[in-house]
Amino acid sequence: MRHVVIIGSGPAGLTAAIYTARANLSPLLVEGWQSGGQLTTTTEVENYPGFAKGITGPELMKDMRAQAERFGSEFVTGDVTAVDFTKRPFSITIDGERTIQAKTVVIATGASAIPIGLSNEKRLTGHGVSTCATCDGFFFRGKELVVVGGGDSAMEEATFLTKFATKVSVVHRRDKLRASKIMQDRAMKNEQIAFVWNSVVEDILGNEVVTGVRLKNIVTGKTTDLACEGVFVAIGHRPNTTLFTGQLDMDEKGYIRTHHGTATGVPGVFAAGDVQDSKYRQAVTAAGTGCMAAIDAERFLERLGE
Ligand code: NAP
Repeated sequence: MRHVVIIGSGPAGLTAAIYTARANLSPLLVEGWQSGGQLTTTTEVENYPGFAKGITGPELMKDMRAQAERFGSEFVTGDVTAVDFTKRPFSITIDGERTIQAKTVVIATGASAIPIGLSNEKRLTGHGVSTCATCDGFFFRGKELVVVGGGDSAMEEATFLTKFATKVSVVHRRDKLRASKIMQDRAMKNEQIAFVWNSVVEDILGNEVVTGVRLKNIVTGKTTDLACEGVFVAIGHRPNTTLFTGQLDMDEKGYIRTHHGTATGVPGVFAAGDVQDSKYRQAVTAAGTGCMAAIDAERFLERLGE
């Protein structure tokens, strides 16, 4: 029986671990088979406060984990395969094998950027392929870029990237954007943004780094290569919440709804980071809500008289 079980090992989960460990709650963190979350797939992180010279994503996560461990957090490597939040203590099953009981749970399972699904996309992630303009845009000063998608994220990323890039080509699979009017107008008015309509990215080119994309026009069937040094995939994010379906209140996109800080609809279950945030999605905001969840869990236990 644990006071606190944290599910997820990105900035939200590890910050919750640091805070609950320092509150003497001996947290257990289930870190998944790929520890560290989305930041482990990025290269330099230059906007996380406290690192004047920047830090790589994997290094930042390694240090956060070491900091959580230093105060007595325990880690279990494995995937949570089932939860039961219908009664307290809550049950959390890992890899279908062992079940842990917990008085409080912090969910920090994050979100995953939806990939196009190309093998070269995976291989060149961090080497020109990115899903976060705020994180990586700065590295593309003076370069030509491609943004894939036609929604608000694609417009926002394309507009943001023109601060650095000389030209941004938005590749969209239809001839109409899904993005809101205001975001469309802003992108359309920007002379550095070009639109490639009715087209899909068939392949991403480059050995060590991205050198271009192979596009297919889905109306004419014609294939063309477009030279670029970066590809930003902005075709949506998916919160990692399948596990909690039916047990927690979620919005129409599957993000966990939180109230009064990080409380979910189930007293004693808290959610932090991207799993409950479709708007900001930054490492620092995830860490911030991880801290909030830890304090919320601590106060909940206090009210139980623990
Ligand atoms: P989205 O609205 O779901 O748009 C995804 C875009 O990617 C669509 O244009 C879609 O094409 C395209 N797409 C999807 N799968 C694809 C595939 N396999 N290959 C090629 N293209 C594909 O996602 P989002 O832009 O990330 O926005 C998510 C939510 O956040 C929205 O509600 C949005 O309004 C909100 N948001 C708001 C702001 C803001 O207000 N500042 C900024 C970002 C996001 P189709 O159009 O053909 O379906």
